[in-house]
Amino acid sequence: MSQVIDIVSLYPKDMNIYGDSGNVLAIQRRLALYGYEPRVHAYNQGCDWPEHVDMILGGGGQDTGQKKIIDDFFQRADLLRSLAADGVPMLMICGLYQLFGEYFETVDGSRLDGIGVIGAYTVGQETRMIGNLTETSADFGKIIGYENHSGQTFLRDGVQPLGTVEQDGTGNNGEDHTEGARVHNVIGTYMHGSLLPKNSAIADFLIRTAVERRYGTFDPAAAGQTDAQRAALHRIDEIADRARRV
Ligand code: GLN
Repeated sequence: MSQVIDIVSLYPKDMNIYGDSGNVLAIQRRLALYGYEPRVHAYNQGCDWPEHVDMILGGGGQDTGQKKIIDDFFQRADLLRSLAADGVPMLMICGLYQLFGEYFETVDGSRLDGIGVIGAYTVGQETRMIGNLTETSADFGKIIGYENHSGQTFLRDGVQPLGTVEQDGTGNNGEDHTEGARVHNVIGTYMHGSLLPKNSAIADFLIRTAVERRYGTFDPAAAGQTDAQRAALHRIDEIADRARRV
């Protein structure tokens, strides 16, 4: 019997820019190549919350998009906080990363309260931070992507960044070289790109964590992975590694 993994794509209508939907496609494709059956639930404002959730993926958006989702997002805040505390793996890019923090004060002076999963706050500035972004992470090695945000994010003391910006890009705020954040199994980051097709280690972390939480062990052979699927994954990883070396 196939082993299903339920993935929530969070607000894909309004929070999905610079290729962030590619993260959902990459997870779907990779899970299938490992022998599992991905089931994606697109969750927009007013939708029913799916019965079972193994992983949540959220993208970035314009300030206007963030304002559109904020009321519904707040109705889901307790649920999202408890799923995060329970260890559900989540990836939140840019605009949703900001809203997983404490608040986002936009450049026009409005304040959007976040849900406080991540101890961080964000303040918009006139000059946008745009361009390629590379960082080094203790857990995932070199990570590559692209950033475009007005918000400067500051982590509270003791909050673990995802990585350190060494060469290209601004990261959280352009001042302390931190980029992103990690809390429980939640990853917040400014990396668009899409992130996951180019950074397989992060995709595998999300997949492994989701599968282990639901089925106890991550065992592609037992899940029915074929040799051809294993070879296809290997080829995908080689291409991603080449992209990261450039
Ligand atoms: N609107 C937010 C900002 O400008 C997030 C942008 C994004 O998601 N790329 O900071």
